[in-house]
Amino acid sequence: MAVLPVLIYPDPILRQQSVAVTLFDDALDTLIQDMLATMHAHKGVGLAAPQVGILQQVIVMEFEGKKMALINPEIIPMKGTTVEEEGCLSLPDTRVIIERADKIIVKAQNKKGQVIQIREKGYFSRIIQHETDHLKGILIIDKAPLEHVFPQADHTL
Ligand code: ZN
Repeated sequence: MAVLPVLIYPDPILRQQSVAVTLFDDALDTLIQDMLATMHAHKGVGLAAPQVGILQQVIVMEFEGKKMALINPEIIPMKGTTVEEEGCLSLPDTRVIIERADKIIVKAQNKKGQVIQIREKGYFSRIIQHETDHLKGILIIDKAPLEHVFPQADHTL
């Protein structure tokens, strides 16, 4: 396992579309392991492949003991929304208040290429939505009006 460098905004790779994974091989397994190691090293709860410079539809999450890797995820939002603050490993010192779907259905593949469909809610659902946005080049700063984007550090006018 290797800890990979995380790309930081405004790296242009973060704005590109990721392609669907078609090869479910050892290289994909290694990428997943490396992404999990990188996420842990940075104390994150999720990571998308483009954040480590790989434009493939791979995301990993780990939150409150639940660990998951999803390939080619597709999100179907269900009823209800929640509003919470989010950060991003590619946007250090930035927090954004974002409204997202609470309950979602996710269609995806696992690392063996098997098609899976899962239901998620709450913060884990939010993490999956955040990471899936990365696969489309969407960042948290796109999701909120500017007055909801603020640095953690004190700022003066
Ligand atoms: Zn992020």
